[in-house]
Amino acid sequence: MLITDHAATIEACRFCFMCRHVCTLGVASGKESDTPRGKGLILFKILKGHADYGADLVDTLYRCCLCGLCETWCKAGCRPPAAVLAARADIVAQGKAPEQVRQIKERLVQTGNPFGLPPGERFQALEGPNVFRERAEVLYYAGCDTAYRQPRIAQALLKIFRAAEADFTLLAGERSTGKPLSLLGYPAEARAMAEDLAGQIRATRCRTLVTGCPSSFDAFTRDYPAMGLDLGGIEVLHAAQYLDRLLAEGRLAPLLSAATSATLLDGTYLGRTHGIFDPPRRVLGKLAGLDLREMTWTRELAYSAGEPGGVFQLLQPELSRQVAARVLEEAAKTGAAVLATTCPATKTALAEVEQASLEVLDVAEILAQTL
Ligand code: SF4
Ligand code: SF4
Repeated sequence: MLITDHAATIEACRFCFMCRHVCTLGVASGKESDTPRGKGLILFKILKGHADYGADLVDTLYRCCLCGLCETWCKAGCRPPAAVLAARADIVAQGKAPEQVRQIKERLVQTGNPFGLPPGERFQALEGPNVFRERAEVLYYAGCDTAYRQPRIAQALLKIFRAAEADFTLLAGERSTGKPLSLLGYPAEARAMAEDLAGQIRATRCRTLVTGCPSSFDAFTRDYPAMGLDLGGIEVLHAAQYLDRLLAEGRLAPLLSAATSATLLDGTYLGRTHGIFDPPRRVLGKLAGLDLREMTWTRELAYSAGEPGGVFQLLQPELSRQVAARVLEEAAKTGAAVLATTCPATKTALAEVEQASLEVLDVAEILAQTL
């Protein structure tokens, strides 16, 4: 069992209450079983052979949104999300994955995206000349959430690339990075998908890979090296870092911001995992007329919209809405007109909340509006 490697976390968390008030899911559901302590108790029983992965326990282990707030909060170095991922891989290996999980996995394998939408529709919203080129300096990897659910983010980035006269292309055969498969408990399938994509990326011989999707960024910079997959020395940047660079090099001349005030939502992979907090703030800070405000819970302790890999919103749509509503409430306390995001899955999750008091826009969209 893979959870054996996480015995120290499981043993510690089952006795501990110290992060239950920050647990994204525990706060939303009010259920003790959803907190890291609850998961510690469940996994301890499994570890000691006192329980099996029955349907209830399996359901609990697929409710965690993997936001990582517990891990950041923990003073003992425990890693509940890693223990949950190991448990999911054990559940899959035992043939006990819930039907919904198996369906998403099948869609990813068959269509290259978690929604099961036709690969031919992936880039249908991206028009204009020279989008797919044989050679370019910059490869833009859109990712499934942007391509199918938030094409306006991709349109904004293409507008910015053209304004900066960047030498860019998209990957005609783009598919998922495989990250959602890892998060659902299918490491072998995730690796196969990653190998295929890594080969396609290497073949482009681009110098820089830019993605606006933090889950994809984490896949390229952390998962692929851990799998021994090489991207051929290509520099990988999140779009916020690339936009920050274009502005610093004077290749963009933003005009007056359409938004008067904004607050930035940090996320799990870009913020907590990779510590990329300042580039999106610098981009917004360069827009004349934009008043940038900070939430109380910000940077590594920012609330999560449950975005990692985009799987939580597919598995738990009602809980996802509750989690997203809490983020919007927190952002509204700043009085800002716009909630700025750096993640397409986050934007989709927030859009599911009715009567949001702020407009939600990706940093790329806010910048593109000024050009
Ligand atoms: S992650 Fe740390 S703070 Fe949270 S329950 Fe486990 S030991 Fe306690
Ligand atoms: S990763 Fe997030 S949702 Fe999961 S246990 Fe930790 S704080 Fe709770």
